[in-house]
Amino acid sequence: MTKQRLLFVGPPGAGKGTQAQQLALRHNLLHLSTGDLLRAEVSAATELGLEAAAVMARGELVSDALVLAIVRSRLEQQSASLSRGEPGPSGWLLDGFPRNLAQAEALEALLSDLDQPIDLVVLMELDDDLLMQRLLSRGRADDNAEVIRHRLEVYRQQTAPLIAYYRQRQLLQAVDAEGSIEAIAERIERLLA
Ligand code: ADP
Repeated sequence: MTKQRLLFVGPPGAGKGTQAQQLALRHNLLHLSTGDLLRAEVSAATELGLEAAAVMARGELVSDALVLAIVRSRLEQQSASLSRGEPGPSGWLLDGFPRNLAQAEALEALLSDLDQPIDLVVLMELDDDLLMQRLLSRGRADDNAEVIRHRLEVYRQQTAPLIAYYRQRQLLQAVDAEGSIEAIAERIERLLA
């Protein structure tokens, strides 16, 4: 596969996590989900997790510094391991990061340091009604109607500007996120070829 450094962007409930996980498995990419990594910190009740838990429960974004530190350490670790010639995935897939322009700019600087430019940004698109339905049926701690509405609002205000940012850099490809998991996976695969 030629494209092996990928970002997944899209509203909560669009299915980024599911698609990202399967794609990473199929192509042996390092899958970094900031949501999953944060939830792991929360369950382990680390200092970082305690700081993040309340913010996540409100449907707001945890601080840029905190998520950036998480992503930075994993990408630097992978890069160091690659340069030592150790086995392991050479590409990566970031899911849920960046989530605002400041994070996108910080990522750009980090990736330029690592000399690992982004190959493709996959935008998963889905109607608000369907997003709401999917999130309500998922039933995670931050998936009640009021918090979901707030997360969609945060997405529109803070994350949606990334669409223009990556489109301008000619990295963005949109995928219709309605349909079966397999159908959507096929649409994404076509973008990687
Ligand atoms: P979803 O895709 O359903 O929005 P995630 O698992 O990606 O869910 O994220 C859940 C929560 O974790 C977010 O609502 C936010 O509080 C926090 N979070 C995840 N990624 C980031 C990020 N890059 N920056 C700030 N907060 C984040």
